[in-house]
Amino acid sequence: MNIEMKLEILTESAKYDASCSSSGVTGQRAGKLGSTAVAGCCHSFSADGRCISLLKILLTNVCIFDCHYCINRKSNSIRRATFTPEEIAQLTIDFYRRNYIEGLFLSSAIIKSPDYTCELLIKALELLRNQHGFAGYIHVKAIPGADPVLIDQLAFLADRLSANIELPSQKSLSLLAPDKSPQAVIRPMKQIAQRKKELALTGHRQQASRYAPAGQSTQMIIGATSDNDYQILQTTDSLYKKFQLKRVYFSAYIPTVAHTLLPSLETKPPLLREHRLYQADWLMRFYQFEADEILTPEQPNFNLYIDPKANWAIQHYDQFPVDVQQANLAQLLRIPGIGPTSARRIIQLRKHRQLDFTDLVKTGAIMKRAKYFVACKDYANSHPISDPMRLIASLMSAKDYQQLKTLNTQTEKEQLTLFDTEYLAREKQREVGVSQ
Ligand code: SF4
Repeated sequence: MNIEMKLEILTESAKYDASCSSSGVTGQRAGKLGSTAVAGCCHSFSADGRCISLLKILLTNVCIFDCHYCINRKSNSIRRATFTPEEIAQLTIDFYRRNYIEGLFLSSAIIKSPDYTCELLIKALELLRNQHGFAGYIHVKAIPGADPVLIDQLAFLADRLSANIELPSQKSLSLLAPDKSPQAVIRPMKQIAQRKKELALTGHRQQASRYAPAGQSTQMIIGATSDNDYQILQTTDSLYKKFQLKRVYFSAYIPTVAHTLLPSLETKPPLLREHRLYQADWLMRFYQFEADEILTPEQPNFNLYIDPKANWAIQHYDQFPVDVQQANLAQLLRIPGIGPTSARRIIQLRKHRQLDFTDLVKTGAIMKRAKYFVACKDYANSHPISDPMRLIASLMSAKDYQQLKTLNTQTEKEQLTLFDTEYLAREKQREVGVSQ
């Protein structure tokens, strides 16, 4: 099989892995080819919003495992291919020299054994780093079940590693990925987090800066199992806290294989749930929210009408309006329409004067939303909306409203039955004149 054909097969197989995003780490390999500091693109985005271009491929889609949800499972009849480490290194350099990419995202199925797969990945990365002098960004998959020594070697060669947890609960993992033990999935994450900490604590600063300098991430599939949003968010929270992950990626399940334990092939990916999870993830990382504040066992699923922050504010409406002159950063961040930038600007500006409504607009706050929750010098929400449904209608974006009409999955539709959909639609129509 020629390399073009392998490329076609192995880029196609790689598209189901959503766990790549480069953080643009500081270049530490001066004088070599490429740089981790500049922007790039495999159509993912860095932490500061830049587009990163990565060559996104699998080493192989030949797999000894049979995870039911995966297109590469051994029992699935698909075209198979495996790159040699030399081919991966050469392809990356060729693409880099043509200015197509700035880095590499290299994942893999498990060929022969986890150790064997890991050794091939190491070989490819060694060729790139040592023979070709490639210093660009590399994100590589930490293979579950591989020897810790091999994981360490990978971590010294790559910028970022990802060990995909895939499913939000042990029960789901045992059901859908019978060959993978939860321990085998968690172990590389734990090892990477611990080793990074140890190297930093023991004063091995140079080694610490070379060990997975862009940290680690993981991916979770949404909608393949009956796990609710609360369980997914709890798992996410615990992964951030225990293993200091840079990112948890959510991937709406795309049915590719028929199986009695999985949603039917006609089921569309639950994109709105995925979107809400990313919003909640954002709240936990940048808005000082705890997972338990966003969802609870009593309310285990997202309100699909409005974003999680607006939902929290409506449920805690007794805590509003917030006086922007007095509120601390955490309180400001809880106001819908006020983000980290506008909150900091408010804190700066109020040192000099009593803020009025126009000042708040100047800070970048979205007053169309915030007006229901703030009080300032010349404005207080003196006629608060007491009916939560009307408030939801006011806060629901036109985009959300349109998305609701094309809901994808049964679970998403069930989540809406908690609300009076018709009443809400009427209110929305009244509020912004969106036609049904
Ligand atoms: S080990 Fe990975 S590639 Fe293999 S079947 Fe499971 S999810 Fe797919």
